[in-house]
Amino acid sequence: MLTTHPFDDDKLREECGVFAIYGTPDAAAHTALGLHALQHRGQEAAGIVAFDGTQFNAHRALGHVGETFAQPDVIGRLNGHAAIGHTRYATTGDTLLRNVQPLFADLAIGGFAIAHNGNLTNNQALRRRLVERGSLFQSTTDTEVVVHLIATALATAVVDRLIDALRQINGAYSFVGLMDDGIVGVRDPNGVRPLVLGRLGDAYVMASETCALDILGADFIRDVEPGEMVIVTRDGLTSRHPFPKASRRFCIFEHIYFARPDSIVEGTSVYDARKRIGAELAREAGVDADVIIPVPDSGVPAALGYANEAGIPFELGIIRNHYVGRTFIEPTDQIRHLGVKLKHNANRAHIEGKRVVLVDDSIVRGTTSTKIVEMVRAAGATEVHMRIASPPTTHSCFYGVDTPRREKLLASQMDIEAMTKFIGADSLAFVTIDGMYRAMGKPEGRNSRDPGFCDACFTGDYPIPLIDFTDGTSDDRVSVLAE
Ligand code: AMP
Repeated sequence: MLTTHPFDDDKLREECGVFAIYGTPDAAAHTALGLHALQHRGQEAAGIVAFDGTQFNAHRALGHVGETFAQPDVIGRLNGHAAIGHTRYATTGDTLLRNVQPLFADLAIGGFAIAHNGNLTNNQALRRRLVERGSLFQSTTDTEVVVHLIATALATAVVDRLIDALRQINGAYSFVGLMDDGIVGVRDPNGVRPLVLGRLGDAYVMASETCALDILGADFIRDVEPGEMVIVTRDGLTSRHPFPKASRRFCIFEHIYFARPDSIVEGTSVYDARKRIGAELAREAGVDADVIIPVPDSGVPAALGYANEAGIPFELGIIRNHYVGRTFIEPTDQIRHLGVKLKHNANRAHIEGKRVVLVDDSIVRGTTSTKIVEMVRAAGATEVHMRIASPPTTHSCFYGVDTPRREKLLASQMDIEAMTKFIGADSLAFVTIDGMYRAMGKPEGRNSRDPGFCDACFTGDYPIPLIDFTDGTSDDRVSVLAE
């Protein structure tokens, strides 16, 4: 039975950015810059905890990284040679500040701060058990479960306690942690969420994406491996593999939408992957047209790939106002509708009298596509064809991407014909699953026995048990979710 859904209550939606640095006198300032580069991963709140050799210094606030950490007095208070930071995605919860990360705990064996990107799928079950045993929770974030598991573990070293805690959790995660002797970073055994390792002079850096290394001029060393724990102390870097080996299931939606196009994720340029998906789309679902227009900004690389492959001119026929946040994160439907209008405007000279192909990365609820098609028609397009650089989003994500409940996903309710009507386009096509995989360097398409990616939002194939969301009988997990 579906007992609860991650987005029903004030539980957090944890697609976020994390950053850690060890071995530089201005650790907090570096962290603020790193978080600024990861701002696209979460605009609701940001926090930094630094360690100066004696004490942990923390600042957390709602709002953008720049609003909080560009203030010299704030950074000035965050002394330390090591720091971690977090930028958090939006939520509709009303108890916001207490959920802002990194979380900090004064453990019997010393202080520990932790920041999380991802979502735990047995959070409720563990939380119930901990509460029964006397744990007092202060936030609703699932990250706090990890803190309590660490606090009650028996090992003496923090990293051993962290390993003990992680062995009890299910879910998708990249964690960074700060101890009094160093930093730690760890990815879940399937490697669903990203985490990279870099070097800045003598300092080591870990971050959700390489764009956070670039902003500092840090060198990229490598991705933290799925299931790997990297520990940095004054003695240097050590790597541990505390979990049984699992199949690699990196989140394909990072490539489709979430990551910044200038990031290199798991060895693949996000920008190039999006262009290749656009080219696949042109091959699979080409249509006679005069102009290819991206839905900015996330549709731009795919539209370029489409236009190059189709040999049709590319124009910025829709202009985006950059001073408005991502539409999708607005908390109510009413504001979301308003947000779309605030965000985009038609560039009429490149639309009027033309047959237009619009390219966007995804359709979730269908709000954006509907508004954009209407806008392009109002600007005088003679035909409007919508092309989507991902397969239909038919399933909710339980691993950290903020997708709504299944019944709100347009593609879970309608077939292509009905969706075309709904968004008001002359035609609508999505790249196929195999086309997407070909663009990701798998010429055979999706190998269902070993896809190499988590693509549950497109296939319903959930690689990590969804303990909190089913009655535990994993066999009917997907069908339960599909109801
Ligand atoms: P919708 O308007 O609900 O169909 O959402 C689709 C639009 O939101 C597309 O233009 C995407 O670029 C964007 N989008 C897709 N997934 C997400 C997400 N998880 N968070 C924020 N925006 C998203």
